[in-house]
Amino acid sequence: MVLRTSVTVLGVAQDGGIPHPGCHCETCESQFQNGNRTLPTSICVRHKNEIHIIDVSRDLDTQARRQNFNPREITDIWLTHAHLGHVDGLGLFGREVMALKGVRLHASESMMSLFDETPRWAAMIEQGVFVKHQFESNKKQNLSPNFSFTPISVPHRNEFSDNHAFVVRGHDKSLLHLPDHDDWDKTLKQVGEDNIRDWLTKIDIDIALIDGTFWESNEIARQDNVPHPTITESIARLGERKEDDIDIRFIHLNHTNPALSWDKKDPRLHGWSIANEGDKFSL
Ligand SMILES: [Zn+2]
Ligand SMILES: [Zn+2]
Ligand SMILES: [Zn+2]
Repeated sequence: MVLRTSVTVLGVAQDGGIPHPGCHCETCESQFQNGNRTLPTSICVRHKNEIHIIDVSRDLDTQARRQNFNPREITDIWLTHAHLGHVDGLGLFGREVMALKGVRLHASESMMSLFDETPRWAAMIEQGVFVKHQFESNKKQNLSPNFSFTPISVPHRNEFSDNHAFVVRGHDKSLLHLPDHDDWDKTLKQVGEDNIRDWLTKIDIDIALIDGTFWESNEIARQDNVPHPTITESIARLGERKEDDIDIRFIHLNHTNPALSWDKKDPRLHGWSIANEGDKFSL
């Protein structure tokens, strides 16, 4: 029997989650009234008895309870970048909460320097909570036969650190995780391709979880300060989804994104979809 690698989506919201702190829009109010919460973007990758998570949210406990695993069993953490919702759960691994030891922390050189410079994180390395495993951009990390992670450097406002997407490869399939980036032209230029399909085909992707922060431009007043390609633009670049096409699902949705409440088959999505918490993929 071939041992499969499985991926579970732990959250689909932008860093702030929904309800978004301080917001009383219709979406935030109705989620609050219904006791519902859309949790920040993160994924869990299981392979044999290893549990890897990409990005760690403060809502890790709720994510783990909803998806039926124990966060104490997490063996590896992979970090995309240092923006709040991607790292604000790291403290949960330390002495004040789970008091774990020896969790492998995979991050870029720039993220590791930030670790050294941030006293509460540096202390967790010193105490042995995390063991540093620095990766190099675009270098495949073979973790076992038929199981690898490849960090891909992708432009995103680097206020604290650089930013990486990850390709997770199992025995049969590959998944791309790209929660944040600034602009398709810059990203495609950096990876040396002209369009999204050519890039995903070149790196042999079957499933792609990509930045769907905003549906359209001018969705929030300060959108110029937080650049992301809109879903409208990504769909315009992709065209209609064909039969046997790559399975592209949007993640990292802001509370203002109207697609949050649409039906899966909404024609405005042109066959592509919005990821749901709990979506599972076998690689
Ligand atoms: Zn983010
Ligand atoms: Zn809101
Ligand atoms: Zn970010």
